[in-house]
Amino acid sequence: MNERDSNALAADLLKRGYELTDNENAADILLFNTCSVREQAELKAVGKIGILKKLKKKKPDIFIGVLGCMAQRRGNELLKELPHLDFVIGTDQLERLPDILEKEIIKREQISLTEENSEMPSTLTEHIIKTNGVSEFIAIMRGCDMYCSYCIVPYVRGREKSRPIPEVVDEVNKLADRGIKEIMLLGQNVSAFGLNQNTKVRPLESPFADLLTEINKINEIKRIRFISPHPFFFNDKLINTIVEHFPKICNNIHLPLQSGSDRILKSMNRRYNINMYMDVVNKLKSKIPDITFSTDVIVAFPGETEDDFNNTRRVMNDVGFDNAYIFKYSPRAGTPASKYEDQICQQLKEERNQILLKDLTERTTKHNKAMEGRVFEILIEGESSRNAQKWSGRTSNNKVAVFDHNPNLRIGDIVNVHIDRSTSMTLFGSIISS
Ligand code: SAH
Ligand code: SF4
Repeated sequence: MNERDSNALAADLLKRGYELTDNENAADILLFNTCSVREQAELKAVGKIGILKKLKKKKPDIFIGVLGCMAQRRGNELLKELPHLDFVIGTDQLERLPDILEKEIIKREQISLTEENSEMPSTLTEHIIKTNGVSEFIAIMRGCDMYCSYCIVPYVRGREKSRPIPEVVDEVNKLADRGIKEIMLLGQNVSAFGLNQNTKVRPLESPFADLLTEINKINEIKRIRFISPHPFFFNDKLINTIVEHFPKICNNIHLPLQSGSDRILKSMNRRYNINMYMDVVNKLKSKIPDITFSTDVIVAFPGETEDDFNNTRRVMNDVGFDNAYIFKYSPRAGTPASKYEDQICQQLKEERNQILLKDLTERTTKHNKAMEGRVFEILIEGESSRNAQKWSGRTSNNKVAVFDHNPNLRIGDIVNVHIDRSTSMTLFGSIISS
């Protein structure tokens, strides 16, 4: 989400005559778009901004601003801690950045903008598309109302707000006109897109499914992906829509699990249990045989016993995730779980993390091996990052495949590739048709 916001803000500033540079010594304005989900991310950002004190002393005319979650969370306190900062702009005020740069910062007073805004900003829709870009993110909603007990997002990104379907479709159409072939729909809880979700039971309707159906009609878009759906809102309407629009809706679904233990899921306030979760997985597996799943998992949540952890391990194996973001629980001030008594020591966090990472590599190696000898459609993304002689792209289930370049091929084409060999990270193959 931050990457998408940064891209939209940069596009907006470019339109207004600013130039972009990633050389901090050449910049007149330095902007940091920050994440607060884990403490480590904040510490890193504060460390980096702290180092810029020297640069500011040498070049007092530059401006330094912090945007996003940490700005929202710490506001004025951050300006006090880092007096060389010029402004902080929180998550709901990002679209005011150009105005602040043009009219306000010139006064040379520190500025903090962190008010919540119940409206979805309609201005963060510009895109800078990389040369030969085939894939773009689109933010379809902001904020989150789920209040998982460990999570800072509802406090720093505010109330959940969804964009109207026609506005999203319009943005996709514009990207399609610029040559984009794949879109990734973004939100903290995309399966609740457009819902009034003060509901204790899983709703029967799914405005998110309606959105997918509309985007599916855009011929130039070849692939649709989305992150992250919440399992609670993943109902039959959404499942059937994914099945109906497969393969355009890609056959890798990111479905955050967080824990494989019902007891821990309850304490996380996740609103589903493993039966409900597996029900979604099994329905999708039975209808799309090659479907794969990726996930987010937190290890060593307060009170997680050996049994709870082993349940997570087992569920991860049962689903067969071949990509997973595994996080060590990080207490976030102001969230209920940070006050739970039975916090787990760093060493155990590390051990459990390593076990899941090892399982993951073993599973991925095995899954990739099973793809050898078969043919998959690959969306070509361009030269391989490791070997410019080769090209690379992705399968529908989001695996990177590397193959020989062929002069008839263009970036953005979909080709059939026979998989010859694999590692845990990459498939290697040969084109059999284009
Ligand atoms: N809305 C998405 C994810 C948002 S944050 C969802 O519900 O899945 C991305 C991931 O960060 C989460 O899925 C969770 O696994 C992780 N995360 C959030 N808060 C965390 C914390 N306090 N400690 C460790 N990981 C955390
Ligand atoms: Fe955080 Fe839960 Fe919302 Fe995801 S659904 S952003 S984990 S509160």
